Amino acid sequence: MSRVSVKILMEHALAHKYAVGYFESWNLESTLAVVRAAENVKSPVIIGVCGTYIGEPKRRYAESLTVYYAMLSQIAEEAKVPVALLLNESDDEEMVIRAAENGFDMVMYAPVFSSEEIPLEQLTKIQKHIAQRAHENGAAVEGEVGELPLYNSAAGKLHDGEVTDPDICAAFVKETGIDTVAVSVGNCHLKEDGMVTINYDALNALAEKIDIPLVLHGGTSIAREDLRRAAAMGVAKVNFGTGMKRAVLNTWKQYLAEYEVDHMDPNDVLGRGTDKDLLMLEQEAVIRYVEETICAMNGENKAF
Ligand SMILES: [Zn+2]
Repeated sequence: MSRVSVKILMEHALAHKYAVGYFESWNLESTLAVVRAAENVKSPVIIGVCGTYIGEPKRRYAESLTVYYAMLSQIAEEAKVPVALLLNESDDEEMVIRAAENGFDMVMYAPVFSSEEIPLEQLTKIQKHIAQRAHENGAAVEGEVGELPLYNSAAGKLHDGEVTDPDICAAFVKETGIDTVAVSVGNCHLKEDGMVTINYDALNALAEKIDIPLVLHGGTSIAREDLRRAAAMGVAKVNFGTGMKRAVLNTWKQYLAEYEVDHMDPNDVLGRGTDKDLLMLEQEAVIRYVEETICAMNGENKAF
């Protein structure tokens, strides 16, 4: 049994000055890879999927949250390190509550990719309701105050965000009853260069004022040394997704340039699990990425 509550995980991270990584997977192989990497470096880890992607109305095939839950929870049960489950950033209030009822350890409502911003008063109402319903089901809730900048790599465009105000954040935390809060201090969604400038004064002010664990999204945008420093300053969790996918794409690109798949046994390319299997290369790219990232956040050898 390696399933632990996300609350215990984050408290442990704060007490031992590291940040626990949430590594957002997209299928069986990437989820297994995240857990294997955490086992290799003996670190606790949070696994999960993106609620916005799973629930995307334009998705070609509708997905079932319970199927993802079954996969994630079984992988967590069999893991040799502490693992918690997150349904991350769903823009669908009903889906977030359903995830808490299904058994996710933590759920997050966030209309990250929507074009219009929800007024704070309305967001407070929604989050309060979600927190009540989630807590009834034993799930924790992650909220978000302050909008992260959002980078569109296809268009090369940056949508500006705003730094989280400590007073507004403190009031939001108190009113909603959320368990952890994602803040905006220079970190950026979907940006891959690891070059953003973290506003440490803003982070410090938040760490002093907010009495629940802080979270940074957009981990791929943050330099390795900043991850370590933020972890020592009260950031209990950092989210990663985009960078893992880029690592996989690079591996596949190299493979397709190197091998003539037309002349290969398709079973060797997909499904046999030996050294030329694209799915194994996918896993290995994720494993390398997650191991390195956990170590950057001081998470190595923190499994308990
Ligand atoms: Zn995010």
